Amino acid sequence: MRHIQLRFCAGCGHVFDEIQPNDGQPQWMDAHAYLMKYGFHWEDLDRMDDACPPCARVLAIARGLVHPEMMQAATVS
Ligand SMILES: [Zn+2]
Repeated sequence: MRHIQLRFCAGCGHVFDEIQPNDGQPQWMDAHAYLMKYGFHWEDLDRMDDACPPCARVLAIARGLVHPEMMQAATVS
């Protein structure tokens, strides 16, 4: 039985693809797309609760660690 360590975003359900990311850089992606890509089953995965950068920002604001106006300035591209 395989056990793949996987960072799982508890906010949006995305997972962190470190195995064979599309552009060579580890990246967050849709969990279903990840399972289809590698042929994994959800039970094979050893999920570690984590947060992707967008959810981490939301959590930081929710916890009052960051002022929303600062975040707005930081996320304008
Ligand atoms: Zn997320």
